[in-house]
Amino acid sequence: MAADPPAAPSPRPAAGDGQAAPAPVPARRLFGLARPYLRPLLAATLLMVAGSAIGLLAPAVAGRVVDAALVDADPARLNRVVLTLLVLFAILGGIAYLEHVLLRQTGARLLLDLRQRLFDHLMSLSPEFYEIRSSGELLSRMGSDLTVVQQAITHQIPNGIQAVLRFAGTLIVLLVLQTRLTLVALSVVPPVALVAVYYGRRIERLARGERDTTAAAGARAEESLGGIRTVQAFQHEDGERAAYAERLRALLDVQLRNARVEGAFAGLVQFAAFSAFAVVLWYGGRLMLTGALTPGQLTSFLLYTFSIAVSVGTLGALYAAFRELRGASARIFELLDTRSSIEDAPDAIGLPEVRGDLGLRGVRFSYPSDPTRFALDGVTLRIRPGEVVGLVGPSGSGKSTLFSLLLRFHDPTVGEVTLDGHDLRRIRLQDLRGAIGLVPQEIFLFSGSIEDNLRVGAPEARRDALIEALQRAGAWEFVERLPAGMDSLVGPRGVRLSAGQRQRLAIARAFLRDPRILLLDEATSSLDPDSEQRVQEALETLMRGRTTVVIAHRLATARKADRIVLLERGRVVGEGDHDTLYEQSELYRRYWTLQSLSAEA
Ligand code: ADP
Repeated sequence: MAADPPAAPSPRPAAGDGQAAPAPVPARRLFGLARPYLRPLLAATLLMVAGSAIGLLAPAVAGRVVDAALVDADPARLNRVVLTLLVLFAILGGIAYLEHVLLRQTGARLLLDLRQRLFDHLMSLSPEFYEIRSSGELLSRMGSDLTVVQQAITHQIPNGIQAVLRFAGTLIVLLVLQTRLTLVALSVVPPVALVAVYYGRRIERLARGERDTTAAAGARAEESLGGIRTVQAFQHEDGERAAYAERLRALLDVQLRNARVEGAFAGLVQFAAFSAFAVVLWYGGRLMLTGALTPGQLTSFLLYTFSIAVSVGTLGALYAAFRELRGASARIFELLDTRSSIEDAPDAIGLPEVRGDLGLRGVRFSYPSDPTRFALDGVTLRIRPGEVVGLVGPSGSGKSTLFSLLLRFHDPTVGEVTLDGHDLRRIRLQDLRGAIGLVPQEIFLFSGSIEDNLRVGAPEARRDALIEALQRAGAWEFVERLPAGMDSLVGPRGVRLSAGQRQRLAIARAFLRDPRILLLDEATSSLDPDSEQRVQEALETLMRGRTTVVIAHRLATARKADRIVLLERGRVVGEGDHDTLYEQSELYRRYWTLQSLSAEA
């Protein structure tokens, strides 16, 4: 519903531009954020107008209270006037209640909407994007930047509007009631305005600094926690503590400076406001001496002046909030405008029937973070339907990169990757990935039940299909024995599964998808012999009748492949069955020697 102006196709974010300030957001776009909520926001504004109008009556009535007591000495009148005042306050209270509820509820909806939109968009961005952005930065945008936007739209800006209304209304009333006294009181406005503008800018700058340092500290902590095993294994806890402490100290510095500047601002504004009172008291006192003013009139006047002073303060806050809103929303829009580097072409074709014929033609690919080095450097390969091809090569030779290109996580820099003769860039992404089953080295388990995790690749699967997949993957035997079977929770707070069990779950996931093409990244970690045996059996059944590309870390797997492709530094340096390659290629022999050495280790 939220109508977005058509986003300019933004270039992919350059490496390391995470810190750069994004372009300012046009005001039209900012208001676009609030557009779906125009009705409740308008209602709230009307309530504010009503509240401000009623609020304008209060000082006048309060002045009458003073005159009734002091000048007329009429108790009955005093009671009547105070009662009027109470009624006014009751109405104001009711209005405040409605206004608050409207704004808070609208704010909550708006935040949910924006957060969902942002998350939906993030889900569609390709891995290239995530190589450049840290998840800490993204979380901070989802959290604090969105909160700033929400606060501004439902809090500061309405308050600001209210302040403008009150300021204008009060001023008019004052000018009508007491022209000269008003002009005297207004003498404090220009200096306050100057102070506000000067400090407003500084405070804004400092607030940005505070946000950035907060984000930096968060990102640092996230890294330490994410790498906690490495940290503890290498006994780098103190290093991490020091690094985080340093970020915290930087943050504290900024905050201490902010506190001083904000304090100075608050003090100056307060001084100016009270000085206005003093001036008004002085001048009003003189008018009273000549009988030109009653005590009640002076009281009303002072209350009006107070109201004006408060509005001026709020206006300063409005200005700051608006600037902050622009900053925070610029960062959010920047994310929303980032187009995925992998998207369906407008004329993308569907592939209802996939044969599983894979091809690479003259493929060269370099990662965006390292554009000068080719991770794949002129690879040409044909994998026929049903063929099992083993990828073998030293670490860093480009095996995983080849998988990424087949899954279209990236597009080749030069050349093309094809499925059934079509360039992957011309095939609907959904159909391409739907035809592929990936069995990674280490299965990623989401927190939830085993069933939830199996359904990741096949949300519609029936329960007996899940059981069948588990059986074929050799996983049913251990799942069945878990306390809650398939409903057992896995993930951080769930049952602990062994490496072999996790692999069998990954295989079950692939069975469920029943893909034409299988990408299999064999685990390097050795399993206990029993698990090993079961995993091998399950894999063999899984590969049957599917085009399979397997990154082979086990000699047994390589032996069984129809063909081995030997990679080195992004190039194909040998091709053939295991025995031929073993005879002909020294690199190939060395690879298996190293493999068996690492397995023994
Ligand atoms: P393998 O799977 O055979 O170990 P990879 O495909 O992971 O090899 O890596 C091939 C080359 O690409 C290596 O030189 C590696 O450093 C580089 N590389 C891999 N991933 C990235 C990345 N995300 N960004 C930049 N370079 C990468």
